[in-house]
Amino acid sequence: MPIKVLEKEIVSRIAAGEVVERPASVVKELVENSLDAGSSQISVEVRGGGVGLIRVMDNGAGIPSGEVELAFDRYATSKVGSLEDLESITSLGFRGEALPSIAAVAQVDIVTCAVGESVGSYLSLKDGLAGNRGSQGRSQGTTITVRNLFRKVPARLKFLKSPATENSHIANVVSQYALAFPEVKFTLFIDGRVAIRTPGNGQLIDSVVQVYGLEVAQNMLAIRSRDEEWEGRTATPSPVVTGMISSPAISRSNRSYLSFFVNRRWISSRLLAWAVEEAYHGLLMMGKHPVAIINISLPLKEVDVNIHPTKTEVKFQNERTVLGAVQKAIRRTLIELAPVPKIEEVAITYGAPSAPIQVLLTPAEIGSSPAYSPPMAEQTPAVSLPVLRVLGQLSSSYIIAEGPDGLYLVDQHAAHERILFEKIKHQRSHQEVEVQGLLEPVAVEVNPKQDETWKAHYENLAEFGFSIEPFGDRTYLVRAVPVLLHQKDWVGVVRELLDSLSGEDEGGWIEKIAISIACHSAVRAGQELTYDEMRELIRQLEQVAIPHTCPHGRPIMIRLSSEQLRREFGRG
Ligand code: ADP
Ligand code: MG
Repeated sequence: MPIKVLEKEIVSRIAAGEVVERPASVVKELVENSLDAGSSQISVEVRGGGVGLIRVMDNGAGIPSGEVELAFDRYATSKVGSLEDLESITSLGFRGEALPSIAAVAQVDIVTCAVGESVGSYLSLKDGLAGNRGSQGRSQGTTITVRNLFRKVPARLKFLKSPATENSHIANVVSQYALAFPEVKFTLFIDGRVAIRTPGNGQLIDSVVQVYGLEVAQNMLAIRSRDEEWEGRTATPSPVVTGMISSPAISRSNRSYLSFFVNRRWISSRLLAWAVEEAYHGLLMMGKHPVAIINISLPLKEVDVNIHPTKTEVKFQNERTVLGAVQKAIRRTLIELAPVPKIEEVAITYGAPSAPIQVLLTPAEIGSSPAYSPPMAEQTPAVSLPVLRVLGQLSSSYIIAEGPDGLYLVDQHAAHERILFEKIKHQRSHQEVEVQGLLEPVAVEVNPKQDETWKAHYENLAEFGFSIEPFGDRTYLVRAVPVLLHQKDWVGVVRELLDSLSGEDEGGWIEKIAISIACHSAVRAGQELTYDEMRELIRQLEQVAIPHTCPHGRPIMIRLSSEQLRREFGRG
């Protein structure tokens, strides 16, 4: 075939393939347009997994009647006018590709009424070509209806998943924008029923309640902004990290609860996800992931958003600074704000069965946490654990203690695990591990898989105080073990580690080894402790950086506040 320039229609179809991958991409583009138009209310309606119908209605600026048709031309945009504009994009859209792309693969109707116009206009498009047009009454704003998506693109239709799956992608898109724009009232109707409805009152926590539910919302911590740090200085911090993160009390089994917004644009970034998870290291059980809504604001010139047609990836001028700022903000929030779980409700009713004790954190508490002191934050012990006075032991498992603000029940095993975990990590990184030589070396035989793991990583075990040398076929001689494990089942620890340590990176190894040693050497539940032992344990707990959860992420203590006690005894 001779070389020729492609027909407009073919170009649009090819371009549409990049922008409109599935029904959720249409929803994303239309919602972004509504947000760019300054809407305070956006309603999304879908039927048949979005293939049947997608309708997005907003109360934004609208399109002037003379520009409606133009909006469907390729590269037609009101958002970028010059090359310089491309360097500092404040809008979500800028490529002028969405409307023509959608019109190329579906039937589109638009009704819009611009600011200052008394009557609205409508336009119907089929196969990307304008058909019926005219004027129609409408309050200010825009409604775009997309029907029969991909009907003329069978290859795409075939690739789509079940309506339920497509619906879940659509719900995710609306959820993400609801989290990014808490000041906008979002409604999503799926096949006629309300799937999401946010109040649009500007409170992120209220969007979280609607998107993730009450249980998650009650366990979210507001990220401490760096304002205090910069008070009195002339320079503005960059980047500024805001949003909310889950306390270690809850977790999820996958990473889909991590949301990132850069200058309010929803983006995906494996590096940012990694940075968040790193900040939670040692706070969540292996294989568990946090919930996080991370807003990153930085000067427009420090981020390039024009990387990909779907605009879901960005390039930071200084990536390490951004990752570092996110990690620091999260770590600081976790250390300072994760409060001691509190017994919210102890119903003691005589004659009737008592209600279960609930450990809850109210949104109000999130806000009333102690103030942040910037300079020494990372080194100083957490501010939220007060000095405690030991009263006694319960069921040989829990230490009862009194604090200035009520009664504390401390899980002795979890508490000791946390203390030892931090001690072990500190000793390793300062090369101060305490080692116990064995009177007689012990031969340990391992299976082939364990053998591989051991060969690859016995240096890591050595850093924690194990002295091991090869001794024939799949057998090793152990000459020394960490002091903490002397007289304990250290062979069990080694086998457990060799079984669980495949496919981790170095950080993961170190964490797992420290957790395993801490877990096996900590006092057990059911072990009676003397008063002095309990006092020593509590004193050490007061020193650790994160006194609220054990390294597996379980809570160490619960608190019954003085106020609750007074209330329960009828003196409040
Ligand atoms: P882009 O968003 O990249 O500019 P689009 O193809 O998505 O490109 O939209 C083209 C233009 O149509 C936009 O620049 C905007 O002027 C107008 N437009 C689209 N949707 C809306 C809307 N909901 N409200 C107001 N104007 C809109
Ligand atoms: Mg757009």
